Amino acid sequence: MRKPASARRRQAPYDGATMCIHSGEDRHGQAAPLTTPIEQTSVYALPDVEALRQYAKDSSGKYIYTRYGNPTIAAVEQKIAALEGAEAAVATSSGMAAELIAVLAACKAGDEVVSMLDVYGGTVKLFEQVLPRCGINVRFIPYHDIANAARYFTAKTRMLFLESPTNPTLRCVDLESLCALGRKRGACVVVDNTFATPLLQKPLELGADIVLHSATKYLGGHSDLTAGVIAGSKKWMDLARPMMILTGGCLDPGCAYLLLRGLKTLSVRVRRACLNAAEIAQWLTQHPKVARVYYPGLPGSEGHEVALRQMKGFGMMVSFDVRGGGRRAERFIDNLELWYLAASLGGVESTVSYPVLTSHIGLSAKQLALLGVSPATVRLSVGVEDCDDLLADLEQALAKA
Ligand code: PLP
Repeated sequence: MRKPASARRRQAPYDGATMCIHSGEDRHGQAAPLTTPIEQTSVYALPDVEALRQYAKDSSGKYIYTRYGNPTIAAVEQKIAALEGAEAAVATSSGMAAELIAVLAACKAGDEVVSMLDVYGGTVKLFEQVLPRCGINVRFIPYHDIANAARYFTAKTRMLFLESPTNPTLRCVDLESLCALGRKRGACVVVDNTFATPLLQKPLELGADIVLHSATKYLGGHSDLTAGVIAGSKKWMDLARPMMILTGGCLDPGCAYLLLRGLKTLSVRVRRACLNAAEIAQWLTQHPKVARVYYPGLPGSEGHEVALRQMKGFGMMVSFDVRGGGRRAERFIDNLELWYLAASLGGVESTVSYPVLTSHIGLSAKQLALLGVSPATVRLSVGVEDCDDLLADLEQALAKA
């Protein structure tokens, strides 16, 4: 006989795979749909003026307008907060919106941001082209100078922005020591955890104030949505939520549902793709047409020791330089039959991207040189297919490069 609902209550905290499925979506003991329904509405009908008055006094758990909040979006925020070990999360319309909202939560005109240069190319452009218009200037630390990060801080620094593993060269930086530095200098430390996912790396446990994702990537996992999220303490999220509401960077409920569904399989996807990526990285190191492989799991790769310490797995991304330069890299990409050429990552399908023409287009030659990105560099987002099929396709395309 089934135990009564009260006896079947969940005993939190669960591990990651269980959280992916259950957190934010407790349907136990309710005669309700098992999955969280999509509340596809932009606005709520209110019974009377008193309800409005009550909302104005305390909006928590109440809904009047979807840009301010919606139950489907709240469920995904709670799931991601649980996965990251955060008190709260704010979902956004994209990863870029999440970045802007995090900056606006921590900085005002006259403040400065210190950021790694080895972050997503779009982040560099946001920081160089948009933030100065708001009176916020950014100082970039190249990877080779990360040991001197303290020198980039001034009395005006309010935020330290980090990403590890980096894009596309998959270098890992010591998040614990950088978070400690940022906090000591009074900065809000933000870590873009898109490449690692909360299952492989937990920046808040390493000392970050805010963890950020392009949920478009692994969290969604099926290349069918655009979303972002930030998570952290209630204090930081209370500062960030009005910025999300006022900039209009909210998530759509339908998209929140897709994200909830994608998150349920995050653990199995990550596990499988990590195994595939490790095998592919190792295989590439032996290939005569490959000049250099970037993968944090390879001994000798930049940040390998750090990755061993701060990550539970080495991730699902592998980059490499094709021997002979850009023309050969382009021929390799054009000859792939199974891997898609796509300017994103993190889906179940394996994809290849060409950083100089996608994520890093528009960066100066000096910046690209500092990042170690050249026309020979290709970036693989390893999916969950059978690894032998993936290797066979890489082999035939490299043979034609
Ligand atoms: N952060 C990282 C590491 C990314 O790779 C991306 C996009 O590629 C972003 C942020 C921006 O996310 P979105 O495209 O969802 O706005």
